[in-house]
Amino acid sequence: MNWEVEVIRKKDELIKDAQSFLQIESVLDEKGGREGKPFGEKVDEALQYMLNKGEIEGFTVKNVDGYAGHIEYGQGEDIVGVLCHVDVVPAGEGWTTPPFSADIRDNRIFARGAIDDKGPTMAAFYALKILKDAGLQLSKKIRMIIGTDEESDWRCVEHYFKHEAMPTIGFAPDADFPIIHAEKGIIDAVLSFTYQKEMSDKRYTLKQFTSGQRLNMVPDEAIATVTTAKEHDRDSLHMAFEAYLAEHQLSGEGKITDDGWQFTLKGVSVHAMEPSLGINAGIHMAKFLCQHELDEQGLAFTSHITALFDQDTRGQKLGIACQDDISGELTLNVGTIRYIQHEEATLGLNVRYPVTADGKDVRKGIESIKGARIEKFDDSQPHHVSKDHPLIKTLQRVYEEQTGDAASLIAIGGGTYARSLEAGVAFGPLFPGRPDCAHQKDEYIEIDDLLRATALYAQAMYELAK
Ligand SMILES: [Zn+2]
Repeated sequence: MNWEVEVIRKKDELIKDAQSFLQIESVLDEKGGREGKPFGEKVDEALQYMLNKGEIEGFTVKNVDGYAGHIEYGQGEDIVGVLCHVDVVPAGEGWTTPPFSADIRDNRIFARGAIDDKGPTMAAFYALKILKDAGLQLSKKIRMIIGTDEESDWRCVEHYFKHEAMPTIGFAPDADFPIIHAEKGIIDAVLSFTYQKEMSDKRYTLKQFTSGQRLNMVPDEAIATVTTAKEHDRDSLHMAFEAYLAEHQLSGEGKITDDGWQFTLKGVSVHAMEPSLGINAGIHMAKFLCQHELDEQGLAFTSHITALFDQDTRGQKLGIACQDDISGELTLNVGTIRYIQHEEATLGLNVRYPVTADGKDVRKGIESIKGARIEKFDDSQPHHVSKDHPLIKTLQRVYEEQTGDAASLIAIGGGTYARSLEAGVAFGPLFPGRPDCAHQKDEYIEIDDLLRATALYAQAMYELAK
């Protein structure tokens, strides 16, 4: 088989179908959900669109309560899973052409979902069609599993795998080429602290302190409100704040509000996969505040944060630092800080631990924080397919044969859709060196890449299921 030639034969049809599919505004509509269409009309329309296409081709299709569906070809006991999703994140502003017009410019299709994940879904579908049209014999079933809630809570795969078999091996065309084979474990934890009420008056009282919106981002802003009894104390705190900003080359401001002095400190937001690339505004604010004569609660909270997390994104101070050769070092991000005097003192942490480490050890470390109570703890286990696994060997061979490039294995701190498969890896669609435009305005897929991915998926499906 010359896979590229087979794809070129179907090129016009593939592009046209990808465009019509991308024109469905398949954004989660929680309120519009009902039985059989849990994520709203439009997400359901996109699922139906694919299942209908499968039916027309004579594939076996199944709709699992509108949560997910599958399109299947081949026979045998074992299932090769290809996990895609039809839901997309909201379009946002600033597009050159409407986000659901699927306009073609410069040999690219521009649309929300073009690269994540409706373009690749159509590529996988055409790959399956190529195998069928060529009448290739298979000894396994190939099952395209089509999810509908990947961008939110993965309720699609959760429901689907409750009712349907787990493929023995598989891949998800929902991240990067060549192959992502290791994904760290991801822990989200929210801790609360209780402090005794203060005994004596101090120069400053910390009224409120807020930083960060999400656990998986380094916060780029922190706001603290401080009151003082005496005017000259106020001025000296403001001067100290300015000095702190200058010393650490940060920006921010202090201003008087009805509630007291309000300090705003700016950091640099990055994804929590590598927090050391950002500047955590919350930790800086805590570090600044705890150097002053604050009320006992405010001082305890900010000192605590500083002692545990200042200049440490590896969990060393917490005693949870670890690393392995496959996936590297544990990372730790303080994603949210919430403090209201006498009412609330909480921290939200996002920890990404190596594939050979144990989430329970991380939990122990977090539990050992003095005075902290775990309010929320969510551990998404690490995901790893060994480099010697036949799945990896096959995908590497296919990739190298078709592209001529080395199919190196990638380990990441983030999670891909592949982790919902037992033995699954992420395989494309973004080729090395291409900018990642998923979730951004003017999201696109290079038509050449769409075709290359289709040829790779066709051969990969065949080699895995033959
Ligand atoms: Zn995706």
